Amino acid sequence: DKATVAIIGRPNVGKSTLFNRLVGRRISIVDDTPGITRDRIYADVEWTGKIFSLVDTGGIDFSGKDSIVNQMIRQAQYAIDTADVILLVVDANEGMTSADEEVADILRRSNKSVLLVCNKVDNFNRKDLLYDFYKLGLGDPIPISAGNGLGIGDLLDKIVAHI
Ligand code: GDP
Ligand code: MG
Repeated sequence: DKATVAIIGRPNVGKSTLFNRLVGRRISIVDDTPGITRDRIYADVEWTGKIFSLVDTGGIDFSGKDSIVNQMIRQAQYAIDTADVILLVVDANEGMTSADEEVADILRRSNKSVLLVCNKVDNFNRKDLLYDFYKLGLGDPIPISAGNGLGIGDLLDKIVAHI
């Protein structure tokens, strides 16, 4: 059976940009305007002969009237229920937030493979941006720039190693 890989993380960390980068074309909408209809949140990705189904959970409406952190908890629960590998995306420039910590706690208690993806490391001389994220207890933070493509091949290698 084809594995499922889910992208989760706070609004604006670059989930849709990463989705498009991994898929190799722009099919997820890169925007944060509320109410925008996201036409595609699923796509197949092929890497070194392995194929997986990628899901941008940012395109699923978990909103209601709830706080961001509660929306993220539902997003994480959805990923735990449906995915084989979870990519928790954080914004390295913004640093760690309490929402990231709460979600990381939930993910750690699940038995899923989780990769901690530190996005917006646009310059790999700035790996100092990663240190804080070791505290999340999800293993080594993986630096990428979904925007310019840095680190994407290494991330894909790590994803397929888990499927
Ligand atoms: P989402 O809400 O998590 O889906 O985030 P988006 O993919 O819509 O991106 C939010 C903003 O971050 C957009 O302005 C993107 O252009 C920007 N962005 C995404 N990835 C990167 C990156 O690697 N580097 C930088 N500098 N900006 C990025
Ligand atoms: Mg998005």
